[in-house]
Amino acid sequence: KAIEVATPKRTKEIIAKYGFSFKKSLGQNFLIDQNILHKIVNAAGLDKTKGALEIGPGIGALTQHLAAAAGAVTAIEIDNRLIPILGDILAGEEHVKVVHGDVLKLDLKKLFKEQFPDVTGISVVANLPYYVTTPILMKLLEERLPLENIVVMIQKEVAERMAAKPGGKEYGSLSVAVQYYCEPSLVCIVPHTVFIPQPNVDSAVIKLAVREKPPVDVEDEAHFFRIVQASFAQRRKTLANNLTAFVGKERREEMTQLLISCDIDPVRRGETLSLDEFARISRAFLAAGW
Ligand code: SAM
Repeated sequence: KAIEVATPKRTKEIIAKYGFSFKKSLGQNFLIDQNILHKIVNAAGLDKTKGALEIGPGIGALTQHLAAAAGAVTAIEIDNRLIPILGDILAGEEHVKVVHGDVLKLDLKKLFKEQFPDVTGISVVANLPYYVTTPILMKLLEERLPLENIVVMIQKEVAERMAAKPGGKEYGSLSVAVQYYCEPSLVCIVPHTVFIPQPNVDSAVIKLAVREKPPVDVEDEAHFFRIVQASFAQRRKTLANNLTAFVGKERREEMTQLLISCDIDPVRRGETLSLDEFARISRAFLAAGW
């Protein structure tokens, strides 16, 4: 059986053995706590019929646990210095494949077809590099990859924004985008002591159960998201003020009436609107030719 990577001692040994130095610019904070790893892997609900995609395996702390839980594991790592280390750590794990590349540039649809030909479901499980959390998650969601769920360690504030409900200051366009595609739930808050080196932000594990279809009726997704962006453009402004920038000053009165006919008070703020209300506005604006 493979030796556990995720202990302070073993991680330090591996780093010393290969003369590895951390690159802050790549968000390299390695996990050294097995308890957290168990929580992450359990949340994904893996078994030997399932596939797991890991983004940023580092020296393989999480990869080992995924290898034990899933039938097929693919790990994408951008840092070429880590590829030979991962080769050694994961030696003999025939169902684990390490791909050297930037997750933001890879054709993931193609990769899924090649790597997960006969699984019953696929999860993304990762301790994400924090500098690119949102672009990575939006890529996974917008490409509509065949995913069951995404379980990721991210910055705590970002997790809270993703899971936020209307009405609070955390709720914004990221909450709407994530909740349009997924049902988020917080798995646990993670202290910074479980990483080497320790990040200077708090972390959390979030689970995003990918929806089969969006929870609201949207005619034109791009339009819906433009309405959402416009509604949050200036958070202190009312919905009517923000949306005036979207439709043009000369249509302000007409637009305000349209909001009222959608049963939405124009003096509300974007941060109080539910997904369904944004969808209603988008449909009404489209019908008005805006
Ligand atoms: N999974 C390991 C762990 O938990 O100990 C390492 C996690 S560390 C927070 C993030 C990893 O993502 C690093 O290994 C880093 O090199 C890698 N990484 C950063 N940007 C990436 C990108 N665009 N594509 C793929 N991997 C990336």
